[in-house]
Amino acid sequence: MAQARVSFKKQDAERRRLEEIFKILKREYPDAKCSLDFENPFQLLIATILSAQCTDERVNKTTPALFKKYPTPAAMAKAPLKDIEKLVQSTGFYKNKAKSVVETSKALTEKYAEVVPKNLDQLVELRGVGRKTANVILGNAYGIPGFPVDTHVGRLVRRMGFSKSEDPVKIEFEIHDLAPQENWTLLSNLLIWHGRKICSARKPLCEECPVARFCPKIGILK
Ligand code: SF4
Repeated sequence: MAQARVSFKKQDAERRRLEEIFKILKREYPDAKCSLDFENPFQLLIATILSAQCTDERVNKTTPALFKKYPTPAAMAKAPLKDIEKLVQSTGFYKNKAKSVVETSKALTEKYAEVVPKNLDQLVELRGVGRKTANVILGNAYGIPGFPVDTHVGRLVRRMGFSKSEDPVKIEFEIHDLAPQENWTLLSNLLIWHGRKICSARKPLCEECPVARFCPKIGILK
């Protein structure tokens, strides 16, 4: 019982610490949002599939031509695979990604009347879509709270001491326990922005970091 009280108190302290970090990052990055360009859920879904192992910047250079030629799920479902491969080649792993783009468009057309599902279980059944992508769509296209864990988010959460895990799904659920649901999407975007600007993989700038006083800097060589 006493042990349960201690761990409850500890979790409460961690929630408050994360809340402080959230508030600071919100002030620091008032424009933080998903960095992929999109005009509708379908475009965000395709852009997120293409963003695997590729920068958002590169994806944003690739998608305009793709969406111009194939603007809807039905159009993309009928596209020749070779043409999609050519259009997405610069994002890397293009053969696999082109297949995912076409297969996902087919599934949207045949099963969902060309509407991207608003449900995580249905989203993860689409080819090329894992929990991270599904949470990106739910949070950023539909305003349904989700906590996508990409490499930036995982790294920052570990350095900040909110998780020891390398498993994105475990990290996602650990953060669910520490942050209010309405903050999940923005928190993930803020961590991504902070990871790009200050807390990079190779050279974290702890001396300049606005959340340094709330961060134990786990794994950072002093
Ligand atoms: S203090 Fe260092 S490790 Fe912690 S978030 Fe800032 S840059 Fe990253």
